[in-house]
Amino acid sequence: MPEQLYDLGGKRVWVAGDRGMVGSAIVRRLASEPCQIVRAPRGEVDLTRQDQTEAWMASARPQAVFLAAAKVGGIHANDTHPAEFLYQNMMIEANIIHAARRFGVEKLLFLGSSCIYPRMATQPITEDALLTGPLEPTNQWYAVAKIAGIKLCQAYRRQYGSDYISAMPTNLYGPGDNFDPVGSHVVPALLLKAHKAKLDRARYIDVWGSGRPLREFLHVDDLADGVVRLMTHYSGEDFVNVGAGYDLTIMELAELVCEVVGFSGAIRYDSSKPDGTPRKLLDVSRMRALGWAPKIDLRTGLKQTYEWFLEHPNEIRIPVHAAS
Ligand code: GDP
Repeated sequence: MPEQLYDLGGKRVWVAGDRGMVGSAIVRRLASEPCQIVRAPRGEVDLTRQDQTEAWMASARPQAVFLAAAKVGGIHANDTHPAEFLYQNMMIEANIIHAARRFGVEKLLFLGSSCIYPRMATQPITEDALLTGPLEPTNQWYAVAKIAGIKLCQAYRRQYGSDYISAMPTNLYGPGDNFDPVGSHVVPALLLKAHKAKLDRARYIDVWGSGRPLREFLHVDDLADGVVRLMTHYSGEDFVNVGAGYDLTIMELAELVCEVVGFSGAIRYDSSKPDGTPRKLLDVSRMRALGWAPKIDLRTGLKQTYEWFLEHPNEIRIPVHAAS
């Protein structure tokens, strides 16, 4: 078993982005660690602003930081809001990483994304595929910002010896996801479409693109477990992929979602919408060597996410700016 390198015991821990799907899952996971979670007051710290970020960190003095704050969205949101995705994500990560050094953060984990890899990367994608080819155009803005975040962590480690690491998660889903029909990712989008179609007794749902792209999906609670593992058991310049280890076509996903929701109508494919990258399956050997493996299979995870959706009608929101 790999040895523990960082002890969260008694530490002040800040999860930046703790109101988003990923951040709230990390907070849930940290409940079983003997640490103290510090939280920024809701809506009061705009992490795209350096002055506000620094003032917050100067007062909160976190010792460990999970950097899960980001402007996120699905293929359409990315494609149509390039400036927001690039600018806001670069600002958030630069502000937090720089302030972390200034205010003596001992360990920081930055969350990237599997879209950092070249569109035509060899599958499954190993970490060394970074910057070996052109990016997928639909999410290149977000990808470039995330690549900058990885490089910031590496640069601060090299120049200042800061213990900053990065995790690259695959496509995530789970409770707390964004269910906006236009801005969301495919899992919540299809859950919502199938749910509405069931209620309306519609004959079909529309799925974007050809249905042929392959995607890997990881439940956000598995990711949270993985990043806590990295925080405590990993240190190094190399970043680490976090994925489920298998993928399926969007067509197969759509069928599974319809089954979980109980919608028995047809599935139509809208070829006017983009497919995005044909495949992005992560190689998770590094992560597995650290003693982590996902526990939630896709069917179980989709059922649980659908139940969450049914139980939280007021929380179905559009996170256009996941600041603090
Ligand atoms: P991506 O992994 O960055 O492409 O992010 P998405 O989760 O937004 O999309 C994944 C795949 O699902 C793409 O091929 C989309 O075209 C496809 N897809 C099918 N229907 C939908 C939908 O209703 N919303 C979204 N976001 N994607 C969809």
